[in-house]
Amino acid sequence: MTMYLEAARPGGTRVDRDKLEAAMIRGLRECGVLRRSDELTAKVWMPVDVGYVVYDRARTPAVNTIFAHLNSLGVESIGRYGGWKYSFMEETILDGKRCAERLTGGGGAEPAHAGELRALK
Ligand SMILES: Cc1cc2nc3c(=O)[nH]c(=O)nc-3n(C[C@H](O)[C@H](O)[C@H](O)COP(=O)(O)OP(=O)(O)OC[C@H]3O[C@@H](n4cnc5c(N)ncnc54)[C@H](O)[C@@H]3O)c2cc1C
Repeated sequence: MTMYLEAARPGGTRVDRDKLEAAMIRGLRECGVLRRSDELTAKVWMPVDVGYVVYDRARTPAVNTIFAHLNSLGVESIGRYGGWKYSFMEETILDGKRCAERLTGGGGAEPAHAGELRALK
């Protein structure tokens, strides 16, 4: 069995990996996901310095300005980072599908930020 565990922390916080790992394993045992007899045979730690998009008050006006400019140049910017948004894999795949449909004239729905742009005009 393989598992992917994630522990988020505020930026700049130091992490004691041994303590965190012990707490995670204890939690999995308490939940019944792991049995006492289960052995950990391999592990990989992957620190992600900037993992989550956190919106502040400046985000929406900034994104509207950026997209107004990109649209004026005919640039399509999609996905989690291309849309400066908090999203997930399914949404990113749909962004790509809709973008391909727009580019090939297939009438793909507008990107999620289109409503925000219209409200600006
Ligand atoms: C810590 C974390 C946990 C997550 N957990 C989940 C989860 O459990 N479930 C879920 O559905 N989603 C999860 N997500 C979100 C999911 O990973 C993203 O929504 C998805 O990967 C976004 O796809 P994307 O194509 O927009 O961006 P990415 O997958 O980041 O792809 C962008 C690519 O562009 C490349 N790139 C950047 N700049 C350039 C350049 N100038 N030239 C060439 N290439 C460039 C990058 O190297 C990258 O490969 C998680 C994200 C993070 C960070």
